[in-house]
Amino acid sequence: MNFPQKRQILVEQFIKPHIHDEKIVNAFLQIPREEFIPDEYKIEAYEDKALPIGESQTISQPSLVALMTKLLDLKGTEKVLEIGTGSGYQTAILSKLCRQVFTVEIVPTLYEKATETLQRLDLSNVKCILGNGSVGLKKFAPYNGIIVTAGGKQIPEALTDQLMEGGRIVIPVGETPYNQKLILGVKKNGKIETQDIESVAFVPLKGQYGWDEN
Ligand code: SAH
Repeated sequence: MNFPQKRQILVEQFIKPHIHDEKIVNAFLQIPREEFIPDEYKIEAYEDKALPIGESQTISQPSLVALMTKLLDLKGTEKVLEIGTGSGYQTAILSKLCRQVFTVEIVPTLYEKATETLQRLDLSNVKCILGNGSVGLKKFAPYNGIIVTAGGKQIPEALTDQLMEGGRIVIPVGETPYNQKLILGVKKNGKIETQDIESVAFVPLKGQYGWDEN
C-alpha cells in the first residue's frame, strides 16, 4: 500500500474519532510522516506508535501529537514556541495551524536533520533554533502557545514568563525521567492554572529545569 493511502487510514482510525477539528485532521492528511522517519522504520510510519529517530530520541505517536495540538486550541493567528524539535513532525503539524512556529532542539544532528526536512517540505513559517529550550526562547517572546515534547520535573519558570496572558502551555511533567502527566496550563493574571490531561511517557527534558544526565 502507498503512503498517502496508509495516511488516510491512520487519520480515519486514530485521529478523526478523537479530534473533532477539521483543520487538525487536514493537517494530518497533508503532512507526510514518512519524511520524518529514518529509512529502516518508514514501513511503520502509519502505525500509531512512537519510533526511534536516532540519538536515543523518538518521534511521538500521531494520536498524541494530535491531542497536544488540540490542547493548544489554535485559531491560525498565533505565535507558538515548541521545545524539543526531534524529527520536526509535531512542528510541521503546528505550522499548518498557526502563524509562526519557533522550535528549539538541543541535539545538533537532530536539529540539522529536522531543519532540512522542514525546508524540503516548504514549511516557511517555521524557524528552527539549536539550543537549550528548558529556558525558553526569550528573543521572540511572548508566545500565544508553548508546547514541550520532552518531560521535565515542573513547568519551567522561564516558559511561564514567556507565555502571553491567556496563552496556553502543553507540557509533560513528572516525578521520574520517563513517566509524566500531560498538563495543560492557561495563563491567568500572570499565573498558570493547570489541568491534568493523561499519563504519558516522553523522553526526558535536558538541561536546567529538566533532568541533567550528568
Ligand atoms: N516532537 C518531536 C518529538 C521529540 S522527542 C517529534 O515529533 O519528533 C524530544 C526531543 O526533545 C528530542 O529531540 C530531544 O533531543 C529534545 N530535547 C530534550 N531536552 C531539550 C532541551 N532542553 N531543549 C531542547 N530540546 C530538548
